[in-house]
Order: sequence, then structure tokens, then C-alpha cells
Amino acid sequence: MNLSVKILISLVLSVVVGLMAGVDGLPFIKWWIAPVGTIFINLIKMVIVPIVFTSLVVGMTSLGDLKKLGRIGIKTIFIYLFTTAIAIMIGFIVAGVIHPGIGLEMTAGEAVKVKEAPSIMQVFVAMVPTNPIASMAKADILPIIIFALFVGVGILQVGGKKSQLLIDWFDAAAEVSYKIINMVMQFAPIGVFCLLLPVVAENGPKVLLPLLSVIACMAFGSVIHAVAVYSSMARIWGNTSPLKFFRGMSEAILIAFTTCSSAATLPINMKNCQEKLGCSRDITSFVLPLGATINMDGTAIYMGVCSLFIANVYGIDLTMAQMGMIILTGTLASIGTAGVPGAGLIMLSMVLLSVGLPMEGLALVAGIDRILDMFRTTVNITGDAAVTCVINETEKQA
Ligand code: ASP
Repeated sequence: MNLSVKILISLVLSVVVGLMAGVDGLPFIKWWIAPVGTIFINLIKMVIVPIVFTSLVVGMTSLGDLKKLGRIGIKTIFIYLFTTAIAIMIGFIVAGVIHPGIGLEMTAGEAVKVKEAPSIMQVFVAMVPTNPIASMAKADILPIIIFALFVGVGILQVGGKKSQLLIDWFDAAAEVSYKIINMVMQFAPIGVFCLLLPVVAENGPKVLLPLLSVIACMAFGSVIHAVAVYSSMARIWGNTSPLKFFRGMSEAILIAFTTCSSAATLPINMKNCQEKLGCSRDITSFVLPLGATINMDGTAIYMGVCSLFIANVYGIDLTMAQMGMIILTGTLASIGTAGVPGAGLIMLSMVLLSVGLPMEGLALVAGIDRILDMFRTTVNITGDAAVTCVINETEKQA
């Protein structure tokens, strides 16, 4: 039986057991089972920094010239932004059809405290590391990318025997990181079960039913975006059939769904893109870490859906100009969204603020954030992989 099937079975099992256990079983689950899930995520996280840093340095040295890197960078960022804007529009369309929140009334004063969202300039400043070791210690991907680019260019400029030594070293270290991920993934079926069980037991039907319409919007929006946008990207520009694409991505998709973290899924995404979709290591190691930090299509769908939902609940009609503003701020906000659980909720506050929607609305979606996050993260990482296929194919022809 292949690994994805095993993970899928444990996912279904966790739903069944979680529903049976319910909130009554929660203390036991939290005490004995959830920590095993945490160990699994920790094991994956353990490899994020080594895998990103080493394969990016190797990728840089094999890409060879800065001009090529610049071209790939611009192309990647452009496609990332474009698909994100489409994602918000899909969120609007689905929410426009389903009308989530109609008939739901918000009790005044139910404000929720979320951390303040960083401004876009703060995101740019934070990209440049002052101390690369500190960035690695905190697993801040963007500064690590920047540092790895400099190290790669430095190695190329030194040239000769000394450079070869370093390239071989980084290459070997990247290989070892991939082997570690393979080992950790053997543990995935158990890890996924232990991660999902507390979520299902905690969010029983009582919590989910009143907001089912929002969850439905998120689920439909995600499927539509994946099928319409990613399938066509993979087929038309990525020379990959949609079936091969989604099958190849199945492990990463299931891990994203359970961990709710693009960053934690990154090593598995890199592995899937290289081993199952045939993307090259140099493209994968640049496009995917960048995507895991700046490309969040699922989060964008969520911004579209939630802003319409909150507007509905408060009986506010959004104008076309306001919708345009949401697309703009939502795209920027998704760039600044960290690839960790719950980050999208913080950034939603920035979008609400930009069009004057009530912040209290956050309290409503906060209750089901974990469930919405499962869909967001799955779409986020699938989008990164679709763009990787496109860049990989177009660079082959360039
Ligand atoms: N959890 C998401 C991710 O890691 C980000 C979000 O909360 O929207 O991709």
C-alpha cells in the first residue's frame, strides 16, 4: 500500500474516532495523543532549515548566472501574485452565490484580540537578515533565502577547487536532508492521526454547524481554484496532466491539510515536486521556499469569503471599489502571511481594516479558524507546486 493511501486511511480513522470521542474524550486525547502529533510536526520542522538552505545554495550554484535567477524570480513572483488575485475573486464569487452568514446575527462587543498585522514595508525589511544564524534559529524562510542566494553567488565568484569543495559539501548535505524527510514520512500515518484527532474531537458538529456555510464556501472555492487554475496551469504550461499533478502531490496535500502549515509542509512538497513531478532541484529549491512564504492562494480565497461573510452578518453592502480594495490588500496581506497555523486570521484584520469592515467579525471566524486553515494551507502549497511545474517547464524551453 502506498504512503498516501495509508495517510488517507488514518485521516478517515481520526475523523471517525474523533467524532465518537467528542469533547468528553478531549482531556485524554490532549494528554496522550496530541503530543505524538507534535513530535511528528517537530520532526518535519527539524529539516526545514537544512533542506531549504543547502538545496538553495546548490540550486544557485547550478543555475549559474544571476541573469537567469533574475528572470526566474520575476516570472515566479508575477505568477504568484496573479494566481493570488484570481483566488480572492473566486472567494468572492463562491461567497456571492452561497451567501454565507445571511440570517446570522452578531452580538455586539464580541471583539477578538489578534496580533497586529505587519505592514508591507515591514515585510520587506524583515526579509534582509542581520544575522543569518538567528534567522535559521527562528526558521525565518525569507531571510534564509536571501542569505543562501548570497552564499551561492559567493561560491560561484570564488570558483575553482575551493568552490567545488563547498558545492560538493552542500550537495551531500541536501541529499542527507532529503533522506531524513523520507525517514520521517514513514511515521506520517501515525502522525496525521494524532494531529487530527484532537481537532475533530474539539470541533464537533455543535461548533461547525452554525458556520457550515462559510466552511462550504472555503471548500468549494478551494476545489474550484485547484481544478480550474492549477489543473490548467499544470496542463498548459507545466506539461503535466492534472491527474499526475494531484497524484504526485498527494502526500504534501495530506500533510498540509493536517498540519495547517506551509512551512512544515515545505520539505515534503520539495520531495514530491522532484520525485513525483520531475521538477529539477535548482528550480524546486528556489520556487517552493519562496512560495511557502509569499504565495498564499488559499489564504486569499479565505480573505474573499470572510470579508463577504462579515459584510453579510453586519448587513453591509460592499461596493465595487471596496471589492477592488479587498483584492489589492488581500494580495498584499497574503504575501505577508507566515506559513504557520492561524496566520491568515491575523492578516484578515488588515483586509477588514482597509475597507472599514467591523473587526468584531473576526470573532466569528476565529472559532472555526482551524478548519478553514486546513483548506487554506492545502491550496497554498498546491499553488506553489503548480507554479514550480510551470517554471520548470518554461525554463527547459528557455
Ligand atoms: N496556515 C496557512 C499556511 O501555513 C497560512 C494561513 O493561516 O492562512 O499556509
